[in-house]
Amino acid sequence: MFQQSHQKIIIALSKGRILNETLPLLAAANIEPIDDLKTTRKLILETTHPNIKLVILRATDVPTYVQYGAADLGVTGKDVVMEHGGEGLYEPLDLNIACCRLMTAGFAGTILPKKIRVATKYANITRRYFQELGIQAEIIKLYGAMELAPIVGLADIIVDVVDTGNTLRANGLVPLDLIAQISSRVIVNHASFKLKHEDIKSLLNILENQANTAFTQS
Ligand code: AMP
Repeated sequence: MFQQSHQKIIIALSKGRILNETLPLLAAANIEPIDDLKTTRKLILETTHPNIKLVILRATDVPTYVQYGAADLGVTGKDVVMEHGGEGLYEPLDLNIACCRLMTAGFAGTILPKKIRVATKYANITRRYFQELGIQAEIIKLYGAMELAPIVGLADIIVDVVDTGNTLRANGLVPLDLIAQISSRVIVNHASFKLKHEDIKSLLNILENQANTAFTQS
């Protein structure tokens, strides 16, 4: 039984929206950070469960921590898992939270020429996507404010996550093509899944029940 768990487990969580939506799911499993997340400067956090610790990271670092076993499991967006490539990770659970779409976006009526420039922080996904379409894409890697790139002529289009579309609209852009539906996933380190199977399986069951309950209520 999970409450009697004796193995140490480290869970990596993504800062921001995913963190806010994951904490209630963990709280339902009686796993709550002891420190106040708004004020603490600790990077590794004790929880109300004696053997479970949390690390709170940039979303893009979560798969790296889990891949190398620095965290046993993590929660991050499907976009981040796709961009990482998933090496060394299992992806056993879709939490159905922080849902959005990974899309190309640009000016309305954009017709893609055979050779384009695309600004994105998702360089790997974008390269694969346009390769499959047979379009020659020069990728311009950015770390934020992608919407600016078409406006200033840095790129023809962008690839980014879109939720309401308000950010695109505010900058005179529109969503064009859907690349993937995105939601937050639980990822698990291969070795941890074998060595700590019972505890991790129990935790996954609790999170799955919580995610399903929240999903049917929304
Ligand atoms: P929106 O204006 O609602 O379409 O939101 C667009 C911006 O919010 C994007 O540029 C993203 O940076 C961010 N965003 C929206 N949803 C998510 C999500 N589920 N995960 C990560 N970032 C998101």
